[in-house]
Amino acid sequence: MAEITVQHIEQAGVVGAGGAGFPTHVKLSGKSDTVILNAAECEPLLHKDKETLRYYGREVLDGLAAAMRLTGAERGFVGIKEKYTDIIDLLVGMLPSDIEIAPLKNTYPAGDEFVLTYDVTRRVIPPGGIPLNVGVVTMNVETALNVARSPAAPVTTKFISIAGAVANPCTLQVPVGVSFRECVAAAGGETVNDPNYMIGGVMMGRLEDDFDAPVLKTTGAIIVLPSDHYVVRRHRRDWTAQVRIGRSACDQCSFCTELCPRYLLGHPIEPHRAMRSLGFNLLGEANVRGTSFCCECNLCSMFSCPENLDPKDICAQNKRRIADEGEKWRDPPFNPKRPGIHLANRKLPIDKLMTRLGLNRFRNVGPLITEPLQTSKVAVALSQHVGAPCEPLVKVGQKVRVADALAKPPMRNGKIALGAPVHASIGGTVKSIDDGFIRIEA
Ligand code: SF4
Ligand code: SF4
Repeated sequence: MAEITVQHIEQAGVVGAGGAGFPTHVKLSGKSDTVILNAAECEPLLHKDKETLRYYGREVLDGLAAAMRLTGAERGFVGIKEKYTDIIDLLVGMLPSDIEIAPLKNTYPAGDEFVLTYDVTRRVIPPGGIPLNVGVVTMNVETALNVARSPAAPVTTKFISIAGAVANPCTLQVPVGVSFRECVAAAGGETVNDPNYMIGGVMMGRLEDDFDAPVLKTTGAIIVLPSDHYVVRRHRRDWTAQVRIGRSACDQCSFCTELCPRYLLGHPIEPHRAMRSLGFNLLGEANVRGTSFCCECNLCSMFSCPENLDPKDICAQNKRRIADEGEKWRDPPFNPKRPGIHLANRKLPIDKLMTRLGLNRFRNVGPLITEPLQTSKVAVALSQHVGAPCEPLVKVGQKVRVADALAKPPMRNGKIALGAPVHASIGGTVKSIDDGFIRIEA
């Protein structure tokens, strides 16, 4: 196998496939002592990471090993749920001596990188920090696979879970830029008359009303749900109504805080205080600066609150306001050894979450269909990563082949801006370049 370099990863356009989209060549330019493969996959109904490991485990481990070499890490871990004994058995036979399995409980949010880092290494990332602050790099399963493939091929496909109200829940490999509608059709289509698409997952995902919107390098799942489903109703709630109801109905029971994973790691975030602030001001005062450290896992809103309030949205809005105002947390420095880190005892079992969310009626399976989905048209987004949108390298009417570079990050002050190039996911003709997309038809 060719030695994988940062340049390979950069030119292949590899970004964090787990949703964040941070350019992987930048992430792997840092130094760490530990790399953790994030196979926790804690969003209900998702199976794509497990299935990717089942079929491409050796390549994923090659990607993990490359990440360790590039960052100088001496240890690697595969953070995977202990219940996936079949996958663990498969991997154990392939593990080099410096990589081991880190078995995880079947809880939510096990895949949050702060939680994962703590579970695997017992190191607490400081509030507002990143895993590198404690010598750790975390990496999604599909990202590691793309790293392993980077010398030979750029990122042109995406693994995606299709679940919920569909005929055949499954994991698909699809061209980047294919429409959500085609993905759902490939899973046998919807089984309800009023489908809603949750993109990414029921907890941290978003509702998408445009079914023809395209898959990005960061899209992980499409969960189809009917309009009257609890998850859909919660995600469609009007913001001003949330504030009005929150003001009058929050009884300060603090259940939201008691299960908040960041609070349980000792971070200065207490969502019940953010709710209390609604009584004084639309978005509160200085006592809610800790909302900056909310990871938007949605546990407080979708599970913890007995009044069905939305502390997560209150925290998220505060977080954005604080960022816009350039505010920073100014309390004494965070002490990762202080008493009060009690995450291990208060983890939420996925089964309880599934029941609360009304998801038990859907089949919780997602076998991988190994034949990649074929399509005749794609819309490849110029921005599918953290950083600057790419600038096109092609023109309307130009013929392209699969894997041809379509666009690359712009130059800023004589340097390539943070970002990652995008490539053609099908062969064909460039039909249009507008609204941030390059559209290709076969
Ligand atoms: S759990 Fe609900 S009612 Fe209790 S403090 Fe939090 S937002 Fe208020
Ligand atoms: S969404 Fe709620 S539970 Fe999750 S980190 Fe934010 S405040 Fe805590």
